[in-house]
Amino acid sequence: MADLFQAPDYYNIDDLLSDEHKMVRDAARDWVKREVSPIIEDAAQKAEFPKSIVKGLAEIGAFGPYIPEEYGGAGLDQISYGLIMQEIERGDSGVRSTASVQSSLVMYPIWKYGSEEQRKKYLPKLASGEFMGCFGLTEPDYGSNPGGMLTNFKDKGDHYLLNGAKMWISNAPFADIAVVWAKNEEGRIHGLIVERGMEGFTTPETHNKWSLRASATGELIFNDVKIPKENLLPNKSGLGAPLGCLDSARFGIAWGAIGAAMDCYDTALRYAKERIQFDKPIAGYQLQQKKLAEMITEITKAQLLALRLGQLKNEGKATTAQISMAKRNNVDMAIKIAREARQILGGMGITGEYSIMRHMMNLESVITYEGTHDIHLLITGMDITGIAAFK
Ligand SMILES: Cc1cc2nc3c(=O)[nH]c(=O)nc-3n(C[C@H](O)[C@H](O)[C@H](O)COP(=O)(O)OP(=O)(O)OC[C@H]3O[C@@H](n4cnc5c(N)ncnc54)[C@H](O)[C@@H]3O)c2cc1C
Repeated sequence: MADLFQAPDYYNIDDLLSDEHKMVRDAARDWVKREVSPIIEDAAQKAEFPKSIVKGLAEIGAFGPYIPEEYGGAGLDQISYGLIMQEIERGDSGVRSTASVQSSLVMYPIWKYGSEEQRKKYLPKLASGEFMGCFGLTEPDYGSNPGGMLTNFKDKGDHYLLNGAKMWISNAPFADIAVVWAKNEEGRIHGLIVERGMEGFTTPETHNKWSLRASATGELIFNDVKIPKENLLPNKSGLGAPLGCLDSARFGIAWGAIGAAMDCYDTALRYAKERIQFDKPIAGYQLQQKKLAEMITEITKAQLLALRLGQLKNEGKATTAQISMAKRNNVDMAIKIAREARQILGGMGITGEYSIMRHMMNLESVITYEGTHDIHLLITGMDITGIAAFK
């Protein structure tokens, strides 16, 4: 079905964006319409990551939007980064996941915590899509509580020896490199760059997902993997290091979720105006108008939240708790809109003719990864009361 998307902007938020923001956003929007919409349903049905779009993702600046140009990044500000994520997720959350992981979970830690040699070696290739990366934090027994991780490395003189396993890792099945979080002999968490082809390192794919089907997910298994010492990220250690990456990725998700919601709303609005039941368009019934009116209200609130967060992030002032609130609110908003929008389409809503059901299923992962909805509530709770309720 043709992509007829028209972005809602109920509060003229475009007036608050710079010309560069709008240029970057419109380039991403056009690219999604041209390159993602025609192929994404088929990729999702086949549960395949569409590798053909990697080059295009690099060209619209989706790999390292805010990484400096000297390392191959696009050198853009945080609002441009957010807008790119919004447009990509308007197409599909799985495609946005690939871009988020590459930018904020692989390029960001190499840029922020890596050596100059590591930056020069990996960042330009990651920015161009020549290298794809993944981020290994979650383990079978440690999801919401990654500090308990069991993956570990030992100092063997001229190299480290890495053992353990990660699961639920986006991009794992095809990634060329993995940024892996593991404990040293003193129990301190460090980041290590693991390269495909290292002996003892495998990445089995996770099958049978009903969500993010166009994104490849897998495990990372480390069985006595010899890691050269120069592959340790030298400039930050402790749980704060991976959590810093998550701040950046969650910020992108807060924007991305708006894209998925906008697509569901726009599709439902158009359908409701065209679909005739009992001799008039279903958009003319109060029950359907309530749904649509609430959707545009929630999208507008989410847009304003994301924009203000982007301003704070540009000023270096956005806190982890502020980012967490936006991730939780905006994903929750999007998933609710997807569910309501699907109902507006009646039976057609469950088919692949329309994007809504795919968004709805995708958002079930988005509300769980990068900190579950519950964990983000606990982060806000801790921030406002000063009391941690995680344990
Ligand atoms: C498709 C997909 C892609 C992913 N990609 C990546 C990736 O690239 N890299 C990576 O490292 N990870 C990735 N993840 C993992 C993701 O971050 C974890 O699934 C998530 O952190 C939750 O962990 P868990 O699944 O082990 O759930 P659990 O931590 O076991 O949580 C289960 C339930 O318990 C609740 N809960 C947990 N602790 C508390 C508490 N203290 N109080 C109240 N409730 C609590 C949770 O909210 C949740 O509802 C991905 C996950 C998915 C589904």
